[in-house]
Amino acid sequence: MRAKAFWLILVALGLGTKRHWHILAAILLGVVLGIYLPYPNQSLQPDSYYFIHQLFDVVGQLFIRLITMVVVPLVVSSLIVGVSSLGDSRQLGRMGGKVLFYFLLLMGISALLGAGLALWMEPGSQIQQNVLMTADAATIIRELQNAPSQSLQALFFNMIPRNPMESLAQADLVPVIVYTLLFGAAVASVGESGKPIINFFESLFTATMKLTDWVMILAVPGVFSLAFITVAKSGLGVFGQLWVYALTILMGLLIQLFIIFPLMLKFLGKINFMNVYRAISEAIMVAFGTASSSATLPITIACMERRAGVSNRIASFVLPTGATINKTATTMFEVIAVIFLLQAYQIEVTPDKVGIIVLFSIVASIGAAGVPSAGLITIAIVLNSIGHFQMDLLAGGIAMLWSIDRVLDMCRTVVNVVSSCTVATLVASSEGELNRDILNNHDAWTEVV
Ligand code: ASP
Repeated sequence: MRAKAFWLILVALGLGTKRHWHILAAILLGVVLGIYLPYPNQSLQPDSYYFIHQLFDVVGQLFIRLITMVVVPLVVSSLIVGVSSLGDSRQLGRMGGKVLFYFLLLMGISALLGAGLALWMEPGSQIQQNVLMTADAATIIRELQNAPSQSLQALFFNMIPRNPMESLAQADLVPVIVYTLLFGAAVASVGESGKPIINFFESLFTATMKLTDWVMILAVPGVFSLAFITVAKSGLGVFGQLWVYALTILMGLLIQLFIIFPLMLKFLGKINFMNVYRAISEAIMVAFGTASSSATLPITIACMERRAGVSNRIASFVLPTGATINKTATTMFEVIAVIFLLQAYQIEVTPDKVGIIVLFSIVASIGAAGVPSAGLITIAIVLNSIGHFQMDLLAGGIAMLWSIDRVLDMCRTVVNVVSSCTVATLVASSEGELNRDILNNHDAWTEVV
């Protein structure tokens, strides 16, 4: 009965035109319902309780599946169109250099910010040692064993596909991007004979964006279900001893979102950040709901092109690379999480360790995929870099981080997405390809979902 009532509300929410408010309402409703109907819930009959959770779990997973489905064709087609429209290889090099500079600058700033905050707030110093020992370690060790290869050399070589088709089939985005960038440059350099290929990928891009629009019909029930299931499963009790840690990360994310990005937009592009944030509001909410910047990519591209006034050429080049490489929030998170672990285990945090943590967090976050919990999995790389820590010795602490990670992951994914949108806007502005009439005129915006 209750489930039916909530479904009716959701359907009603989905009927209007301003869908981004509906998505926000759906997230809030999901959180409230998740608190109200935790998993497991003694007060309900096992059948109905099982049914409600299963139903929303299915809807949430279905939504994630469907948007993930369009990511590979979209990345390939948009990058080939983007790169080939950049023209000669000198232009491509210049643009690539500029984008990489912004990505590294933002990740560097956020790593230093994370270090400053972690040393100031000391999130790990109040953790009781017995909690570290008793936390569930087995799952964690399993997860970390699935982590990507930990040596830097392997990380580097894995970026170059042995067989591009294999990387495509496995949706391994970093090698796919490396191949596509090179292939796009080759297509551009062969002139007329490359035209049919460009035409083909232009059509593929347009049709895939259409498919994205269709998938987004499910956005409201999709993010509602994801928010509900997340809160119902983890509850808010997990914050317990970790509230200082969570607060440190949230403070860092807010500083990036409301100080660093706005200042960059203002001083480097004379752009009001609120216009950009409003333009990408759907992408922000979908990032929050899915905790995956890759899955959000189709919506990010749609928002940037249709509302932020960023040209197709820039959006289709910067956003796919950004969703894979540019993880400013993840960089900061890794710095804070590793310093947290050192503090919790009473290992001295020396300046040289901090330097290594900052550097390797940038590397690890570049290597982290745009999927849920990727940032937590790749802290293995950072931990390895500061000494030969046995993962299982730290497993209790890492288990604590897992217990709270989903909610923080949702927040950092938002910042990762906004960060790439900031770079795309700045690059478009510096290339004279930012249509300010569209960006500043909300009435001209077309619906994204
Ligand atoms: N979930 C994040 C993203 O998709 C990565 C992370 O775990 O930090 O951007």
